[in-house]
Amino acid sequence: MTVTAPAPKHRRLRTEIPGPASRALQERRAATVAAGVSSVLPVYVTSASGGLLTDADGNTLIDFGSGIAVTNVGHSAPAVVDRVRKQACWFTHTCFMVTPYEGYVEVCEALGELTPGTHEKRSVLFNSGAEAVENAVKIARVATGRQAVVVFDHAYHGRTNLTMALTAKSVPYKHGFGPFAPEVYRVPGSYPFRDGLTGEQAAAAALEKIEKQIGGDQVAAVVIEPIQGEGGFVEPAPGFLPALSRWCAEHGAVFVADEVQTGFCRTGDWFASSHEDVVPDLVATAKGIAGGLPLAAVTGRAELLDAVPAGGLGGTYGGNPVACAAALGSIETMRGENLASSARRIGEAVLPRLRALAAETGVIGDVRGRGAMLAAEFVRPGTTEPDAELTARVAKACHALGVVVLTCGTYGNVVRLLPPLSLSGELLDEGLSVLEHAVRQEISR
Ligand code: PMP
Repeated sequence: MTVTAPAPKHRRLRTEIPGPASRALQERRAATVAAGVSSVLPVYVTSASGGLLTDADGNTLIDFGSGIAVTNVGHSAPAVVDRVRKQACWFTHTCFMVTPYEGYVEVCEALGELTPGTHEKRSVLFNSGAEAVENAVKIARVATGRQAVVVFDHAYHGRTNLTMALTAKSVPYKHGFGPFAPEVYRVPGSYPFRDGLTGEQAAAAALEKIEKQIGGDQVAAVVIEPIQGEGGFVEPAPGFLPALSRWCAEHGAVFVADEVQTGFCRTGDWFASSHEDVVPDLVATAKGIAGGLPLAAVTGRAELLDAVPAGGLGGTYGGNPVACAAALGSIETMRGENLASSARRIGEAVLPRLRALAAETGVIGDVRGRGAMLAAEFVRPGTTEPDAELTARVAKACHALGVVVLTCGTYGNVVRLLPPLSLSGELLDEGLSVLEHAVRQEISR
């Protein structure tokens, strides 16, 4: 049986958002799905193609979220679908730790080629970003024989016990879930809009804390998002990441780049670390790696990964063959369509419009981002005081008009744009016009 998914070309609203069919599903959900798992926009999706989502009421929405930076190649990208289909026919699971298969090895080969640096590398595959980050810490601890892990203000690294400890924000990610893993130390990062520091100054402040409060010879790993994701799409000032990376090299600490959200062409490079020529010792990846199937990886220096004895890393599903097939299809698409340059084009189209909107309205204190990882930080006019309430209203207004945008930020005051990198100029333009309209509408209320 050949199944062909519907592939609409335009935003089309047939009912209010969410419509009656989605609302009925939402009622069923409330009676059976745990309240602790929430949804930004409860329209129930029946199909998705390129940059469009179609819901149970027949509405078609523009997707500026990509399932949180996952479908970088677009929904139902042909190379992903074809490879998944074939792999699902051949076999869906053996467990790589029992009887291995080529797809896993091919994904690790690709990761070795694509991640920054030309040194000898190894990779290990997992299921989620949190699992990848957690394993990067395990690897760093075994390889260094040290325990301390340094993380930053506004960081987000996941929801498992160790990654909750690495994550900064309490509500909703940590509140009530303690006790948290020990030997995790938080220091200030670089948030140019709020700290006004150069990259060198911010790094000096962070490094002073590390040296005074932990001691350079105690640090196993410095774990950092090259651009912070959930914390507010915070792009560090130039020089910050290189200074930390240099410090790690000088002190025998492992520099771990959490590229879970920034990876796979999202920021206009294969990886955001490359923007300042930073070569991490370990890179954690997930999300965009496999076009929507659950896959994650740690890639890095051979001597670090090979320090862990056999059996120390792995898991039943890590590097599942169908997920590996999806990753190979996704990487093939990114290479073939040069999606890194598409991401840069998206940034060039979006940033001037967000800046103009900021100048016009006065409610956006900072416009930032790189490639197709873009953000507007909402504040009360003339101040840096976060305006989370307006941010939520703007997002809601976009949703009502059929554009899926997400918010983020420690203060909940950032609208973030993460469109699929393959999104057409026409849909990008239309989605932006909706966002502009939503901001104007909400400030005139
Ligand atoms: N690290 C970063 C930077 C992330 O953005 C996320 C997810 N938002 C994670 C880790 C956790 O990934 P996952 O949800 O796949 O566990």
